Amino acid sequence: MRRRTDGTLPTQGRQPAGQAADAVFERELAAAVSRGELVVHYQPVLSLPSRRCTAVEALVRWVHPRHGLLLPDAFIPVAERTGAIAAIGSFVLRRSCADAATWRDTHPGSPLALHVNISALQLHDDRLGADVSACLAEFDVPPNQLVLEVTQATAASSPATIGRLGELAALGVVIAIDDVGTDSSALTTLASVPVQIVKIDRSIVAGSTENCLDRAVTAEVVTRAAAMGLRTIAAGVERADQQEYLESIGAGAAQGYLYQRPAPADEFGAWLDQHLSGLPTLVPDEAVIL
Ligand code: C2E
Ligand code: MG
Ligand code: MG
Repeated sequence: MRRRTDGTLPTQGRQPAGQAADAVFERELAAAVSRGELVVHYQPVLSLPSRRCTAVEALVRWVHPRHGLLLPDAFIPVAERTGAIAAIGSFVLRRSCADAATWRDTHPGSPLALHVNISALQLHDDRLGADVSACLAEFDVPPNQLVLEVTQATAASSPATIGRLGELAALGVVIAIDDVGTDSSALTTLASVPVQIVKIDRSIVAGSTENCLDRAVTAEVVTRAAAMGLRTIAAGVERADQQEYLESIGAGAAQGYLYQRPAPADEFGAWLDQHLSGLPTLVPDEAVIL
C-alpha cells in the first residue's frame, strides 16, 4: 500500500497485505534516521507590525526511498506509536541547532529564535532535558533562543507533563503552545504551565477574515494571551488581509505561505539573506523578539 505525501492511505482496509505493508513502513521508519533519510525544512516567523523575521520553525520531512518526500503527518503518528519519535526528535533538535548556529554566524546582527516541535511521547522521556542541554551547549545556542512547541492538549495532559515542561523552562528555554484553536477559554488551564508563547491555529487564522466567529476567537485569543503576559503567533497566514487584521488586533507575530513556505536549510538561508538585506541590525540580547 502506497502512502500519499499528505499522509493518507489510499485504502483504509486492514487486510493482511495492508498490515504487512505497515510493518515494512515501521521498519523503514525505525532505520530512517541512521540511513540519513530525514531532513529538516524551515519556515520563518515574522514579528508584527515590523514584518521582520525573528524566528524560524523546524519541520521534519522524510525522503523515503520509494514514496519520495513525506510530510510529518504521514509518519510522526507512526513514530509516536512505535517509539521511533525519540530518535527522530533528537535528530531534529540537533540538526536544527546546528543550522541555527550557522545562521547566527552568517547574520550576527539578526538573532533568530529556533522553534522545534516536541511530541507528547518525547516529554515522557527522561532524557529530553539532557538532550536539550547538550545541544544548546554543543552549538552555543542561548537557551532563550530555543522555543519548544507543544500542543495545548499535550501541555495540560498530566502533572508529570507539566512537571517536565517546568524542568525544561528551568533550563531557560521558551515553551510555546501550538495549535491553539476554538477553545480560547482553555488557555486559562495553562496557568500552571510555564508557557510564554501561544500559536493560533491556521484554521482559525484562515477564518478570521471570512466569518465573525473565527474573527472573534482570534481577537479573544490575542487579548486573553496578552492579559496572561503571553505573546501570540498567528500560524498559516496566507493573505495580506489576514495579516492586516492580525496587525489591527495586536498579534505579536505571523507565519505562513504569505511570507515563505517551509524550505530546505540552504533555501531558507538564501531567503533570509534577501529578507534581512537593508534591515537594521539588532543587539544579540534581543533574542526572542515578537
Ligand atoms: P505545526 O507545528 O502546526 O506546523 C505548521 C504546519 O502548517 C506545517 O505543516 C507547515 O508546513 C504548515 N503551514 C505553514 N504555513 C502554512 C500556510 O500558510 N498554509 C497552510 N495550508 N499550511 C501552512 P507540516 O510541515 O506538514 O507539519 C505538520 C505537523 O507535523 C506540524 O504542525 C507538527 O505538529 C508536526 N511536526 C513537524 N515537524 C515535527 C517534528 O520535528 N517533531 C514533531 N514531534 N512533530 C513535528
Ligand atoms: Mg509547530
Ligand atoms: Mg498545526
